Amino acid sequence: MSIYVDNAATTKMSPAAMQAMLPYFDQIYGNPSSLHSEGQRAAEALAGARARIAARLGCQPREITFTSGGSEADTQALLSAAHLGARKGKWHIISTAFEHHAVLHTLEALERQGFSVTLLDVHENGLVTPEQVKAALRPDTCLVSVMYANNEIGTVQPIGEIGRVCREAGVLFHTDAVQAVGHLPIHVGELQVDLLSLSAHKVHGPKGVGALYARKGIPLESVIYGGAQERDRRAGTENLPAILGMAAALEESCAHMEERARTLTLLRERLIDGLSQIPHAVLNGDRARRLPGNVSFCFEGIEGESLLLLLDDRGIRASSGSACTSGSLDPSHVLLALGRPHEIAHGSLRLTLSHENTQEDVDAVIRAVTEVVAYLRSISPVWRDLTSGKTEFILKEAV
Ligand SMILES: *Cc1c(COP(=O)(O)O)cnc(C)c1O
Repeated sequence: MSIYVDNAATTKMSPAAMQAMLPYFDQIYGNPSSLHSEGQRAAEALAGARARIAARLGCQPREITFTSGGSEADTQALLSAAHLGARKGKWHIISTAFEHHAVLHTLEALERQGFSVTLLDVHENGLVTPEQVKAALRPDTCLVSVMYANNEIGTVQPIGEIGRVCREAGVLFHTDAVQAVGHLPIHVGELQVDLLSLSAHKVHGPKGVGALYARKGIPLESVIYGGAQERDRRAGTENLPAILGMAAALEESCAHMEERARTLTLLRERLIDGLSQIPHAVLNGDRARRLPGNVSFCFEGIEGESLLLLLDDRGIRASSGSACTSGSLDPSHVLLALGRPHEIAHGSLRLTLSHENTQEDVDAVIRAVTEVVAYLRSISPVWRDLTSGKTEFILKEAV
């Protein structure tokens, strides 16, 4: 038995999305840039997928650029907007401390180019406010980038209100909507965003494909040098099967959004209630203003990676939500941004549900996490010191 609860990392492809891709491997396989009829059939399919995706976002097809995924869309959005600002003498960017690394690392690259970056603090509930954005605006601010839904703790930011603040100030606004797409309503006009990134593999589509919405009139610079594909905005032969798969996945998840959100929210609440019974544990992020399928906890006296591995032994595929890159066990920058102390941030567990999960899955996860946490604590010297009173608990009581 295996229970997959790591849907924020990636999702299983939907059969409809897989079916939608197949003809574009061996039937409509032309290069959309070719002038012959095989190429033109491919170009028509590309235009069709672009129109369908644009319809889901409430924008014009010309405002959609296909990319290799969310990371490339984020990179391209930030570099384009920043360089546009620099040409007008504006070198200041506002973002948040809990963005995805695709945003944070692009901002670091921009700092090396001379930009100054203000990273807003995140409130303990995992939210940033329009007031914070407003207060950070400067006359030389050219860009604000705030993610729609956080990939670790699932909190949903007030993007429409932040968009209004930016528009009133005449500052470009980008949102990384990779985790929000398919789960939350997205209409670029209502959200007042100028740039929006999405990725297919987080919504049951294929990996390695995404899209960037850029409002008409905003020039995008290609981050890849080569041909004139995507109206000179993104070089490289279009990944037609993946793009058609993305269009199908997006349509399917949007068509079922409300019904899936309702069932996912019920499962999420059951999971949160169950895990809240574990002593010295805390839910990360606002309980209500979070993605329907996201549950993120910290357990005191626990090492997240051990918890993950023991859960994996029991068939449960979860995530610690921490960036443990190449052996270094740095705690998650997202949990630190919430103000969690290092010891607490180390004991994190992220469980992200999909519509395929059942109540039985949730109950099995609650049982397994409860038992594994108790076991790890029983063999932990840190826990012995806490319970003997030698050191003090940080999480005083069960939440
Ligand atoms: C997964 C993810 C990305 C990166 O998308 P890829 O398609 O994997 O490059 C960017 N932002 C967020 C919030 C994500 O969850």
